[in-house]
Amino acid sequence: MFQTGVRQMRMAMSMVWGRPISPRNVERLVEDALETLATFGAPGDDVQQLLEGPFSDPKVREDFQTRGLRRTARRLAKVSPYYRRLFDDNGIEPDRLTPERMSSIPATLKRDLVASPSDFLADGSKPYVSTRTTGTTGRPAEIWLSRYEIELWPAMAALSGLLRNEISPDDVMQVNISSRATAAVQQNLTVCRLVGARSRMLGVVPAEESLDSLLGGGDTAPTLLTTYPSYLAELVAAARRRGVGPADFRLRRIDCGGEVLSSALSGAAYETFGPRLVNDTFGMTEILPVSGRVCDQGHLHHDLNMGFVEVVDFQTGAPVGPGALGTVVITPYYPYRECMPVFRYDTRDIVRRLPDDALTCELAGVPATSRILGKADHLLRLGDEVVTLRDLVEVVEDLPSQPWPARFGATVGDDRIQLHMPGDVLGGASASDLRRRLAERGLDVDVSTVLDGRSGAQIRPLRADLLETTFVGRN
Ligand SMILES: [Zn+2]
Repeated sequence: MFQTGVRQMRMAMSMVWGRPISPRNVERLVEDALETLATFGAPGDDVQQLLEGPFSDPKVREDFQTRGLRRTARRLAKVSPYYRRLFDDNGIEPDRLTPERMSSIPATLKRDLVASPSDFLADGSKPYVSTRTTGTTGRPAEIWLSRYEIELWPAMAALSGLLRNEISPDDVMQVNISSRATAAVQQNLTVCRLVGARSRMLGVVPAEESLDSLLGGGDTAPTLLTTYPSYLAELVAAARRRGVGPADFRLRRIDCGGEVLSSALSGAAYETFGPRLVNDTFGMTEILPVSGRVCDQGHLHHDLNMGFVEVVDFQTGAPVGPGALGTVVITPYYPYRECMPVFRYDTRDIVRRLPDDALTCELAGVPATSRILGKADHLLRLGDEVVTLRDLVEVVEDLPSQPWPARFGATVGDDRIQLHMPGDVLGGASASDLRRRLAERGLDVDVSTVLDGRSGAQIRPLRADLLETTFVGRN
């Protein structure tokens, strides 16, 4: 029964003919899947494997990617003022594009989107809703989406979520991401609507209020939580202050994204909330609807059905070999992007490339990278040595004082890495203790404490600080 639904979806998604997909048809497939689930129960592992796509065979993968890239480039050459010019200037012929030739096309950066947003709007498109980046790296970029996009993406997400048993009509989803992340909020609410699940959109409100919501409601307490790692950290801290544990929650999965999730914090979330999975996901406004997920062996697997993913040197832009660090460059395929498409978008997210053929995880058929290690523009470089944000967060968040989320700033000075942190972050530990722990991981770092507030500019921004105020608790 499920095989039929999966095949239909795969056919819709492979898009050999390259025309837009009808969101209504995908919504009908969601309804079929719901009926099948109600009758036959959960889908089996064979369905999961079908969903990952035909990517384990390099030849099939290359053929799929070549068709996807040519289809996308052909459309951009026709309708996108920015890419029409870029392709012309660089002698790019869409019909001769191959995965190997991609690195000869200049990547698009966030500053390009910010500088001339209207050049990215496709001719004849009808912008419907805009979503802004809520990242911590400078001026926001604004992405316009068409009605087609905001209907299609949640329908596809609902279908794959149902078939992967990631959401069901019995679920209640609590959403603790910024209310201004319009596309992500809309996506979550619509996925719940299509599946018939409940959703509770709270935003980045004081953690105590979100904790009340996770604890309250008996049979209607949340089973799914969507948030940022730094906000999850505040929730864990709030739960521990209140003395509640796994038996007090109904959460079966926590989805985190947008920041580095450390092993220490992830472990604490398992201990405190008792979910079956703390899911480290990858998503970014500019390259929607391409996403990635972390397998049980800690690799990041991108969804290659939706887009082309490269790992390139963050300085030269050349493809990097297995084992090397690089930035993730993503090209969402047409027809998944319509209104304001990007081509070779450099996310500036740093990963380490893994060998394609040595994976033994449950997603081994889909090429993988390390998890996100930090932003390229925040790398700390000392000669040949490169230290990433994750290197530091993993150690700081593993301190016995449990300083979650890890608030610190890091710079390079006097030929050493300098870590600055508010004194209370260290808790009972001393600066020399932290220095020793960092040295055990091969990191030669000076640690200094700074007064909270006075050196605010040095401390890295966290999404938990996008705080939305409420009137609760004011009187
Ligand atoms: Zn894996």
